[in-house]
Amino acid sequence: MANSPLTPGIAAGRLPPDTLADNFNDLHPPLDAHEAAVAADRCYFCHDAPCVTACPTTIDIPLFIRQIATGTPDAAAKTIFEQNILGGMCARVCPTETLCEEACVRVLAEGNPVEIGRLQRFATDGLMDGPHPFERADPTGKKIAVCGAGPAGLACAHRLAMKGHGVTIFDANPKPGGLNEYGIASYKTVKDFAQAEVDWLMQIGGITLVGDHALGHGDLTLNSLQDNYDAIFLGIGLSGVNALRIEGEDLSNVGDAVEFIAELRQSDDLTSLQVGRNVVVIGGGMTAVDAAVQSKLLGAENVTMVYRRERERMSASEYELDLAASKGVHIITGASPVAVHGQGAAQEIEFRYTDSNGNFRLPADQVLKAIGQRIGDIPDGLTLESGKIHVDEHGRTKLAGVWAGGDCATGGYDLTVTAVAEGRDAAEDIHVALS
Ligand SMILES: Cc1cc2nc3c(=O)[nH]c(=O)nc-3n(C[C@H](O)[C@H](O)[C@H](O)COP(=O)(O)OP(=O)(O)OC[C@H]3O[C@@H](n4cnc5c(N)ncnc54)[C@H](O)[C@@H]3O)c2cc1C
Ligand code: SF4
Repeated sequence: MANSPLTPGIAAGRLPPDTLADNFNDLHPPLDAHEAAVAADRCYFCHDAPCVTACPTTIDIPLFIRQIATGTPDAAAKTIFEQNILGGMCARVCPTETLCEEACVRVLAEGNPVEIGRLQRFATDGLMDGPHPFERADPTGKKIAVCGAGPAGLACAHRLAMKGHGVTIFDANPKPGGLNEYGIASYKTVKDFAQAEVDWLMQIGGITLVGDHALGHGDLTLNSLQDNYDAIFLGIGLSGVNALRIEGEDLSNVGDAVEFIAELRQSDDLTSLQVGRNVVVIGGGMTAVDAAVQSKLLGAENVTMVYRRERERMSASEYELDLAASKGVHIITGASPVAVHGQGAAQEIEFRYTDSNGNFRLPADQVLKAIGQRIGDIPDGLTLESGKIHVDEHGRTKLAGVWAGGDCATGGYDLTVTAVAEGRDAAEDIHVALS
Protein backbone atom coordinates (compact mmCIF):
# COMPACT_ATOMS: atom_id res chain seq x y z
CA MET A 1 0.00 0.00 0.00
CA ALA A 2 1.50 3.34 -1.09
CA ASN A 3 -0.29 5.53 1.46
CA SER A 4 -1.08 5.17 5.16
CA PRO A 5 -2.71 7.32 7.86
CA LEU A 6 0.73 8.92 8.32
CA THR A 7 1.13 10.08 4.71
CA PRO A 8 1.39 13.90 4.87
CA GLY A 9 -1.14 16.18 3.20
CA ILE A 10 -4.20 14.96 1.33
CA ALA A 11 -4.07 11.39 0.05
CA ALA A 12 -6.28 8.59 -1.22
CA GLY A 13 -6.06 4.95 -0.17
CA ARG A 14 -4.79 5.48 3.37
CA LEU A 15 -6.31 2.14 4.38
CA PRO A 16 -6.48 -1.18 2.50
CA PRO A 17 -9.76 -1.89 0.62
CA ASP A 18 -11.00 -4.57 3.04
CA THR A 19 -10.44 -2.31 6.06
CA LEU A 20 -12.38 0.44 4.29
CA ALA A 21 -15.18 -2.01 3.45
CA ASP A 22 -15.36 -3.06 7.14
CA ASN A 23 -15.27 0.55 8.34
CA PHE A 24 -18.22 1.55 6.16
CA ASN A 25 -20.31 -1.50 6.90
CA ASP A 26 -23.75 -1.31 8.55
CA LEU A 27 -23.48 0.57 11.86
CA HIS A 28 -26.34 -1.47 13.37
CA PRO A 29 -26.64 -4.81 11.62
CA PRO A 30 -30.24 -6.03 11.19
CA LEU A 31 -31.90 -8.23 13.82
CA ASP A 32 -32.67 -11.82 12.81
CA ALA A 33 -36.13 -13.29 13.52
CA HIS A 34 -35.11 -14.71 16.91
CA GLU A 35 -33.43 -11.49 18.05
CA ALA A 36 -36.49 -9.53 16.91
CA ALA A 37 -38.81 -11.80 18.91
CA VAL A 38 -36.67 -11.34 22.03
CA ALA A 39 -36.51 -7.56 21.54
CA ALA A 40 -40.27 -7.33 20.93
CA ASP A 41 -40.92 -9.33 24.08
CA ARG A 42 -39.49 -6.49 26.18
CA CYS A 43 -42.30 -4.11 25.18
CA TYR A 44 -45.00 -3.46 27.82
CA PHE A 45 -47.47 -2.44 25.04
CA CYS A 46 -48.23 0.68 27.05
CA HIS A 47 -51.58 2.41 26.85
CA ASP A 48 -51.01 6.09 25.82
CA ALA A 49 -47.47 5.00 24.96
CA PRO A 50 -44.94 7.83 25.37
CA CYS A 51 -42.86 6.42 22.50
CA VAL A 52 -45.72 7.18 20.07
CA THR A 53 -46.00 10.79 21.24
CA ALA A 54 -42.22 11.16 20.81
CA CYS A 55 -42.33 9.93 17.20
CA PRO A 56 -42.81 12.85 14.76
CA THR A 57 -44.77 10.53 12.43
CA THR A 58 -46.79 9.08 15.37
CA ILE A 59 -46.32 5.45 14.35
CA ASP A 60 -48.36 3.11 16.56
CA ILE A 61 -45.23 1.59 18.07
CA PRO A 62 -46.83 -0.80 20.61
CA LEU A 63 -49.09 -2.15 17.85
CA PHE A 64 -46.28 -2.85 15.41
CA ILE A 65 -44.15 -4.41 18.13
CA ARG A 66 -47.07 -6.62 19.14
CA GLN A 67 -47.47 -7.64 15.49
CA ILE A 68 -43.80 -8.68 15.42
CA ALA A 69 -44.22 -10.52 18.74
CA THR A 70 -47.20 -12.44 17.35
CA GLY A 71 -45.33 -13.51 14.24
CA THR A 72 -46.88 -11.09 11.71
CA PRO A 73 -43.99 -8.81 10.76
CA ASP A 74 -45.59 -7.82 7.43
CA ALA A 75 -48.60 -6.44 9.30
CA ALA A 76 -46.12 -4.60 11.54
CA ALA A 77 -44.47 -3.07 8.48
CA LYS A 78 -47.82 -1.93 7.13
CA THR A 79 -48.61 -0.26 10.47
CA ILE A 80 -45.32 1.64 10.11
CA PHE A 81 -45.69 2.56 6.43
CA GLU A 82 -49.24 3.85 6.91
CA GLN A 83 -47.75 6.66 8.98
CA ASN A 84 -44.27 6.86 7.49
CA ILE A 85 -43.66 5.65 3.96
CA LEU A 86 -39.91 6.13 4.49
CA GLY A 87 -40.05 3.97 7.63
CA GLY A 88 -37.20 1.87 6.22
CA MET A 89 -34.80 4.81 6.05
CA CYS A 90 -36.04 6.26 9.34
CA ALA A 91 -35.34 2.91 11.03
CA ARG A 92 -31.71 3.40 9.99
CA VAL A 93 -31.17 7.13 10.52
CA CYS A 94 -33.57 8.38 13.20
CA PRO A 95 -31.82 9.60 16.33
CA THR A 96 -34.10 7.22 18.28
CA GLU A 97 -32.05 7.92 21.42
CA THR A 98 -33.58 11.41 21.53
CA LEU A 99 -37.03 10.44 20.18
CA CYS A 100 -39.05 7.23 20.74
CA GLU A 101 -36.38 5.29 22.62
CA GLU A 102 -35.64 8.17 24.98
CA ALA A 103 -39.34 8.20 25.91
CA CYS A 104 -39.63 4.41 26.35
CA VAL A 105 -40.73 3.47 29.89
CA ARG A 106 -38.11 0.70 29.93
CA VAL A 107 -35.50 3.46 30.25
CA LEU A 108 -36.96 4.47 33.61
CA ALA A 109 -37.37 0.86 34.69
CA GLU A 110 -33.94 -0.47 33.78
CA GLY A 111 -31.96 2.07 31.79
CA ASN A 112 -32.40 0.37 28.40
CA PRO A 113 -35.22 1.12 25.99
CA VAL A 114 -36.98 -1.37 23.76
CA GLU A 115 -34.94 -1.36 20.52
CA ILE A 116 -37.70 0.36 18.54
CA GLY A 117 -35.48 1.46 15.65
CA ARG A 118 -34.02 -1.99 15.03
CA LEU A 119 -37.45 -3.62 15.32
CA GLN A 120 -38.79 -1.13 12.78
CA ARG A 121 -35.98 -2.08 10.43
CA PHE A 122 -36.68 -5.79 10.92
CA ALA A 123 -40.33 -5.32 9.93
CA THR A 124 -39.86 -2.85 7.06
CA ASP A 125 -36.95 -4.68 5.40
CA GLY A 126 -39.06 -7.83 5.20
CA LEU A 127 -42.05 -6.17 3.53
CA MET A 128 -39.90 -4.11 1.14
CA ASP A 129 -38.60 -7.35 -0.35
CA GLY A 130 -42.08 -8.00 -1.71
CA PRO A 131 -44.70 -6.08 -3.72
CA HIS A 132 -45.77 -2.58 -2.74
CA PRO A 133 -48.39 -2.84 0.03
CA PHE A 134 -50.62 0.12 -0.94
CA GLU A 135 -53.04 0.64 -3.80
CA ARG A 136 -53.62 3.83 -5.68
CA ALA A 137 -57.18 5.22 -5.68
CA ASP A 138 -58.92 5.89 -8.99
CA PRO A 139 -57.32 8.83 -10.80
CA THR A 140 -58.82 12.19 -9.77
CA GLY A 141 -57.53 14.11 -12.80
CA LYS A 142 -55.77 16.61 -10.50
CA LYS A 143 -52.07 17.37 -11.05
CA ILE A 144 -49.61 18.37 -8.35
CA ALA A 145 -46.03 19.55 -8.81
CA VAL A 146 -43.56 18.61 -6.07
CA CYS A 147 -40.21 20.43 -6.07
CA GLY A 148 -37.54 18.39 -4.31
CA ALA A 149 -37.26 14.60 -4.16
CA GLY A 150 -35.97 14.45 -0.59
CA PRO A 151 -37.88 12.82 2.28
CA ALA A 152 -40.46 15.65 2.41
CA GLY A 153 -41.16 15.62 -1.34
CA LEU A 154 -41.24 11.83 -1.59
CA ALA A 155 -43.60 11.43 1.37
CA CYS A 156 -45.88 14.14 -0.03
CA ALA A 157 -45.83 12.61 -3.53
CA HIS A 158 -46.58 9.09 -2.30
CA ARG A 159 -49.54 10.18 -0.19
CA LEU A 160 -50.97 12.27 -3.05
CA ALA A 161 -50.48 9.43 -5.55
CA MET A 162 -52.23 7.02 -3.16
CA LYS A 163 -55.25 9.33 -3.21
CA GLY A 164 -55.37 9.17 -6.99
CA HIS A 165 -53.71 12.47 -7.90
CA GLY A 166 -51.08 12.74 -10.62
CA VAL A 167 -47.72 13.93 -9.28
CA THR A 168 -44.60 15.23 -11.02
CA ILE A 169 -41.50 15.60 -8.87
CA PHE A 170 -38.79 17.97 -10.11
CA ASP A 171 -35.36 17.75 -8.50
CA ALA A 172 -32.21 19.78 -9.04
CA ASN A 173 -30.04 16.67 -8.64
CA PRO A 174 -29.75 13.83 -11.12
CA LYS A 175 -30.77 11.25 -8.49
CA PRO A 176 -33.83 11.39 -6.19
CA GLY A 177 -33.64 10.94 -2.42
CA GLY A 178 -32.31 14.31 -1.29
CA LEU A 179 -29.99 13.98 1.70
CA ASN A 180 -30.96 10.29 2.02
CA GLU A 181 -28.90 9.85 -1.15
CA TYR A 182 -26.32 12.63 -0.79
CA GLY A 183 -26.03 13.40 2.94
CA ILE A 184 -26.72 10.62 5.44
CA ALA A 185 -23.57 8.87 6.69
CA SER A 186 -22.61 5.86 4.53
CA TYR A 187 -22.55 3.41 7.44
CA LYS A 188 -26.18 4.23 8.29
CA THR A 189 -27.56 3.38 4.87
CA VAL A 190 -25.50 0.74 3.09
CA LYS A 191 -26.09 -1.13 -0.18
CA ASP A 192 -27.71 1.76 -2.04
CA PHE A 193 -30.76 1.58 0.22
CA ALA A 194 -31.84 5.16 -0.60
CA GLN A 195 -32.39 4.35 -4.30
CA ALA A 196 -33.98 0.98 -3.51
CA GLU A 197 -36.44 2.77 -1.24
CA VAL A 198 -37.34 5.34 -3.91
CA ASP A 199 -37.90 2.54 -6.48
CA TRP A 200 -40.14 0.69 -4.01
CA LEU A 201 -42.11 3.83 -3.15
CA MET A 202 -42.62 4.66 -6.85
CA GLN A 203 -44.45 1.34 -7.33
CA ILE A 204 -47.58 3.10 -6.09
CA GLY A 205 -47.86 4.57 -9.62
CA GLY A 206 -48.96 8.02 -10.71
CA ILE A 207 -45.62 9.70 -9.91
CA THR A 208 -43.23 11.02 -12.58
CA LEU A 209 -39.70 11.90 -11.50
CA VAL A 210 -37.83 14.61 -13.41
CA GLY A 211 -34.17 14.96 -12.38
CA ASP A 212 -31.74 17.78 -13.17
CA HIS A 213 -34.58 20.31 -13.09
CA ALA A 214 -34.27 23.05 -10.49
CA LEU A 215 -37.10 25.40 -9.67
CA GLY A 216 -35.93 28.90 -10.58
CA HIS A 217 -33.72 27.73 -13.43
CA GLY A 218 -34.61 27.73 -17.13
CA ASP A 219 -38.34 27.62 -17.73
CA LEU A 220 -39.17 25.88 -14.41
CA THR A 221 -40.62 28.81 -12.46
CA LEU A 222 -43.32 29.07 -9.85
CA ASN A 223 -45.48 30.91 -12.40
CA SER A 224 -45.15 28.12 -14.96
CA LEU A 225 -46.04 25.53 -12.30
CA GLN A 226 -49.04 27.58 -11.16
CA ASP A 227 -50.24 27.69 -14.78
CA ASN A 228 -49.95 23.93 -15.27
CA TYR A 229 -50.69 22.28 -11.92
CA ASP A 230 -53.54 22.36 -9.39
CA ALA A 231 -51.20 22.60 -6.39
CA ILE A 232 -47.48 22.89 -5.64
CA PHE A 233 -45.44 21.44 -2.79
CA LEU A 234 -41.95 22.76 -2.07
CA GLY A 235 -39.57 20.38 -0.33
CA ILE A 236 -36.34 21.93 -1.56
CA GLY A 237 -34.31 21.52 1.64
CA LEU A 238 -31.41 23.78 2.52
CA SER A 239 -29.05 23.93 -0.43
CA GLY A 240 -26.92 26.90 0.69
CA VAL A 241 -24.04 26.58 3.16
CA ASN A 242 -22.86 29.11 5.71
CA ALA A 243 -19.42 30.67 5.36
CA LEU A 244 -16.85 31.07 8.14
CA ARG A 245 -15.85 34.56 6.97
CA ILE A 246 -12.27 34.22 8.21
CA GLU A 247 -8.88 34.79 6.63
CA GLY A 248 -7.64 31.79 4.63
CA GLU A 249 -11.11 30.34 4.00
CA ASP A 250 -10.39 30.30 0.25
CA LEU A 251 -7.22 28.18 0.57
CA SER A 252 -7.44 24.81 -1.10
CA ASN A 253 -8.50 21.88 1.06
CA VAL A 254 -10.86 24.11 3.04
CA GLY A 255 -14.25 22.75 2.05
CA ASP A 256 -17.81 22.16 2.93
CA ALA A 257 -18.59 19.06 5.03
CA VAL A 258 -21.85 18.38 3.14
CA GLU A 259 -19.98 18.30 -0.20
CA PHE A 260 -17.32 16.01 1.28
CA ILE A 261 -20.04 13.62 2.47
CA ALA A 262 -21.91 13.80 -0.86
CA GLU A 263 -18.73 12.84 -2.72
CA LEU A 264 -18.24 9.94 -0.33
CA ARG A 265 -21.85 8.79 -0.76
CA GLN A 266 -21.56 8.88 -4.55
CA SER A 267 -18.21 7.08 -4.69
CA ASP A 268 -18.13 3.43 -5.67
CA ASP A 269 -14.44 3.14 -4.83
CA LEU A 270 -13.56 4.30 -1.31
CA THR A 271 -9.84 3.80 -1.98
CA SER A 272 -9.97 6.67 -4.50
CA LEU A 273 -11.29 9.22 -1.98
CA GLN A 274 -8.79 11.74 -0.71
CA VAL A 275 -8.60 12.68 2.94
CA GLY A 276 -6.12 14.66 5.02
CA ARG A 277 -3.70 13.28 7.60
CA ASN A 278 -4.84 16.01 10.01
CA VAL A 279 -8.50 16.87 9.50
CA VAL A 280 -10.27 19.63 11.43
CA VAL A 281 -14.07 19.80 11.30
CA ILE A 282 -15.74 22.99 12.47
CA GLY A 283 -19.22 22.61 13.94
CA GLY A 284 -21.18 20.74 16.59
CA GLY A 285 -24.07 19.09 14.79
CA MET A 286 -24.88 15.84 13.05
CA THR A 287 -23.10 16.93 9.85
CA ALA A 288 -19.92 17.72 11.78
CA VAL A 289 -20.00 14.32 13.52
CA ASP A 290 -20.64 12.50 10.23
CA ALA A 291 -17.81 14.32 8.44
CA ALA A 292 -15.42 13.73 11.33
CA VAL A 293 -16.26 10.04 11.78
CA GLN A 294 -16.10 9.34 8.06
CA SER A 295 -12.73 11.13 7.72
CA LYS A 296 -11.42 8.89 10.47
CA LEU A 297 -12.88 5.78 8.82
CA LEU A 298 -11.17 6.78 5.55
CA GLY A 299 -7.85 6.67 7.41
CA ALA A 300 -7.07 10.22 8.59
CA GLU A 301 -4.55 9.99 11.44
CA ASN A 302 -5.95 12.87 13.51
CA VAL A 303 -9.48 14.20 13.32
CA THR A 304 -10.60 17.05 15.55
CA MET A 305 -14.07 18.55 15.82
CA VAL A 306 -14.09 22.10 17.14
CA TYR A 307 -17.27 23.79 18.38
CA ARG A 308 -17.57 27.37 19.58
CA ARG A 309 -19.91 26.81 22.52
CA GLU A 310 -19.99 24.30 25.38
CA ARG A 311 -20.65 20.59 24.79
CA GLU A 312 -24.22 20.70 26.14
CA ARG A 313 -25.17 23.13 23.36
CA MET A 314 -23.95 20.91 20.54
CA SER A 315 -26.88 19.80 18.40
CA ALA A 316 -25.35 16.35 17.87
CA SER A 317 -26.78 13.90 20.40
CA GLU A 318 -24.74 12.38 23.22
CA TYR A 319 -24.98 9.07 21.35
CA GLU A 320 -23.42 10.59 18.23
CA LEU A 321 -20.70 12.33 20.22
CA ASP A 322 -19.90 9.01 21.90
CA LEU A 323 -19.77 7.36 18.47
CA ALA A 324 -17.30 10.04 17.31
CA ALA A 325 -15.17 9.55 20.42
CA SER A 326 -15.25 5.76 20.01
CA LYS A 327 -13.86 6.16 16.47
CA GLY A 328 -11.02 8.31 17.80
CA VAL A 329 -12.35 11.79 16.96
CA HIS A 330 -11.01 14.45 19.32
CA ILE A 331 -13.61 17.04 20.39
CA ILE A 332 -12.71 20.60 21.46
CA THR A 333 -15.41 22.98 22.68
CA GLY A 334 -15.47 26.70 23.45
CA ALA A 335 -13.23 27.78 20.55
CA SER A 336 -13.95 29.79 17.38
CA PRO A 337 -11.85 29.74 14.22
CA VAL A 338 -10.00 32.98 13.43
CA ALA A 339 -7.81 32.08 10.43
CA VAL A 340 -6.63 29.24 8.22
CA HIS A 341 -2.91 29.42 7.51
CA GLY A 342 -0.97 27.93 4.61
CA GLN A 343 0.77 28.61 1.30
CA GLY A 344 -1.92 27.95 -1.29
CA ALA A 345 -3.36 25.03 0.71
CA ALA A 346 -4.38 24.75 4.36
CA GLN A 347 -1.62 23.77 6.79
CA GLU A 348 -2.85 25.05 10.14
CA ILE A 349 -6.02 26.51 11.57
CA GLU A 350 -6.03 29.04 14.36
CA PHE A 351 -8.75 29.27 17.01
CA ARG A 352 -9.56 31.61 19.85
CA TYR A 353 -11.06 30.36 23.10
CA THR A 354 -14.46 31.99 23.42
CA ASP A 355 -14.14 32.67 27.16
CA SER A 356 -10.62 34.16 27.03
CA ASN A 357 -8.32 35.82 24.54
CA GLY A 358 -5.98 32.84 24.25
CA ASN A 359 -5.34 31.54 20.73
CA PHE A 360 -4.10 28.12 19.63
CA ARG A 361 -3.34 26.40 16.35
CA LEU A 362 -3.99 22.89 15.08
CA PRO A 363 -2.20 21.26 12.16
CA ALA A 364 -4.81 20.93 9.40
CA ASP A 365 -4.23 19.75 5.87
CA GLN A 366 -8.00 19.50 5.44
CA VAL A 367 -10.63 21.78 7.01
CA LEU A 368 -14.31 20.83 6.75
CA LYS A 369 -16.94 23.44 7.53
CA ALA A 370 -20.13 22.12 9.11
CA ILE A 371 -21.57 25.33 10.53
CA GLY A 372 -25.07 24.99 9.19
CA GLN A 373 -26.97 25.19 5.95
CA ARG A 374 -29.35 27.82 4.69
CA ILE A 375 -32.09 28.01 2.14
CA GLY A 376 -31.05 28.58 -1.50
CA ASP A 377 -32.89 30.90 -3.88
CA ILE A 378 -36.64 30.87 -3.39
CA PRO A 379 -39.39 32.16 -5.67
CA ASP A 380 -40.75 35.69 -5.18
CA GLY A 381 -43.88 36.02 -3.09
CA LEU A 382 -42.91 33.53 -0.36
CA THR A 383 -42.34 34.88 3.13
CA LEU A 384 -39.21 33.88 5.03
CA GLU A 385 -39.16 33.53 8.80
CA SER A 386 -35.88 32.78 10.59
CA GLY A 387 -34.39 31.92 7.19
CA LYS A 388 -37.09 29.39 6.22
CA ILE A 389 -40.29 29.48 4.18
CA HIS A 390 -43.09 30.47 6.53
CA VAL A 391 -45.88 27.86 6.65
CA ASP A 392 -48.93 27.41 8.86
CA GLU A 393 -49.77 24.22 10.76
CA HIS A 394 -51.05 22.61 7.52
CA GLY A 395 -47.90 23.42 5.56
CA ARG A 396 -49.59 26.24 3.61
CA THR A 397 -47.37 29.13 2.53
CA LYS A 398 -48.65 32.68 2.13
CA LEU A 399 -49.21 31.99 -1.60
CA ALA A 400 -52.52 30.32 -2.45
CA GLY A 401 -52.03 26.81 -3.84
CA VAL A 402 -48.42 26.52 -2.63
CA TRP A 403 -47.42 24.30 0.30
CA ALA A 404 -43.95 23.65 1.77
CA GLY A 405 -42.38 21.24 4.25
CA GLY A 406 -39.17 19.62 5.44
CA ASP A 407 -35.95 21.51 6.12
CA CYS A 408 -36.87 24.47 3.88
CA ALA A 409 -40.00 25.31 5.92
CA THR A 410 -40.58 26.64 9.42
CA GLY A 411 -41.48 24.26 12.28
CA GLY A 412 -39.95 21.01 13.49
CA TYR A 413 -36.40 19.76 13.76
CA ASP A 414 -34.25 19.26 10.65
CA LEU A 415 -34.57 15.48 10.62
CA THR A 416 -35.55 12.90 8.02
CA VAL A 417 -38.57 11.80 10.05
CA THR A 418 -39.82 15.37 10.53
CA ALA A 419 -39.54 16.01 6.80
CA VAL A 420 -41.57 12.85 6.12
CA ALA A 421 -44.27 13.93 8.61
CA GLU A 422 -44.51 17.41 7.09
CA GLY A 423 -44.64 16.11 3.51
CA ARG A 424 -47.35 13.61 4.43
CA ASP A 425 -49.44 16.18 6.32
CA ALA A 426 -49.18 18.75 3.53
CA ALA A 427 -50.40 16.06 1.09
CA GLU A 428 -53.44 15.44 3.29
CA ASP A 429 -54.19 19.16 3.32
CA ILE A 430 -53.68 19.49 -0.45
CA HIS A 431 -56.10 16.58 -0.93
CA VAL A 432 -58.74 18.31 1.21
CA ALA A 433 -58.17 21.59 -0.65
CA LEU A 434 -58.58 19.89 -4.05
CA SER A 435 -61.55 17.70 -3.14
C1 LIG B 1 -24.70 15.47 6.43
C2 LIG B 1 -26.07 15.29 6.98
C3 LIG B 1 -26.37 14.17 7.74
C4 LIG B 1 -27.64 13.99 8.25
N1 LIG B 1 -27.90 12.88 8.99
C5 LIG B 1 -29.14 12.70 9.49
C6 LIG B 1 -29.45 11.52 10.24
O1 LIG B 1 -28.60 10.67 10.47
N2 LIG B 1 -30.73 11.37 10.71
C7 LIG B 1 -31.70 12.31 10.46
O2 LIG B 1 -32.85 12.11 10.88
N3 LIG B 1 -31.45 13.43 9.75
C8 LIG B 1 -30.19 13.63 9.25
N4 LIG B 1 -29.91 14.77 8.54
C9 LIG B 1 -31.02 15.72 8.28
C10 LIG B 1 -31.92 15.17 7.16
O3 LIG B 1 -31.12 14.64 6.13
C11 LIG B 1 -32.82 16.28 6.63
O4 LIG B 1 -33.55 16.82 7.71
C12 LIG B 1 -33.80 15.76 5.58
O5 LIG B 1 -33.13 15.18 4.48
C13 LIG B 1 -34.70 16.90 5.09
O6 LIG B 1 -35.49 16.43 4.03
P1 LIG B 1 -36.03 17.46 2.94
O7 LIG B 1 -36.82 16.63 1.99
O8 LIG B 1 -36.65 18.62 3.59
O9 LIG B 1 -34.71 18.03 2.23
P2 LIG B 1 -33.52 17.34 1.44
O10 LIG B 1 -33.26 15.97 1.89
O11 LIG B 1 -32.41 18.31 1.52
O12 LIG B 1 -34.07 17.27 -0.05
C14 LIG B 1 -34.29 18.44 -0.78
C15 LIG B 1 -34.28 18.10 -2.26
O13 LIG B 1 -34.64 19.28 -2.99
C16 LIG B 1 -33.78 19.41 -4.11
N5 LIG B 1 -33.76 20.82 -4.47
C17 LIG B 1 -33.09 21.84 -3.86
N6 LIG B 1 -33.33 22.99 -4.50
C18 LIG B 1 -34.18 22.70 -5.50
C19 LIG B 1 -34.80 23.47 -6.51
N7 LIG B 1 -34.62 24.79 -6.62
N8 LIG B 1 -35.62 22.84 -7.42
C20 LIG B 1 -35.83 21.49 -7.35
N9 LIG B 1 -35.24 20.71 -6.41
C21 LIG B 1 -34.44 21.32 -5.49
C22 LIG B 1 -32.47 18.84 -3.66
O14 LIG B 1 -31.69 18.43 -4.78
C23 LIG B 1 -32.92 17.67 -2.78
O15 LIG B 1 -33.04 16.49 -3.52
C24 LIG B 1 -28.64 14.97 8.02
C25 LIG B 1 -28.35 16.12 7.27
C26 LIG B 1 -27.08 16.28 6.76
C27 LIG B 1 -26.76 17.53 5.98
S1 SF4 C 1 -42.82 3.08 25.74
FE1 SF4 C 1 -41.43 1.28 25.42
S2 SF4 C 1 -42.46 -0.38 26.51
FE2 SF4 C 1 -44.04 1.23 26.22
S3 SF4 C 1 -45.07 0.75 24.26
FE3 SF4 C 1 -43.36 2.12 23.78
S4 SF4 C 1 -41.68 0.71 23.24
FE4 SF4 C 1 -43.18 -0.52 24.37
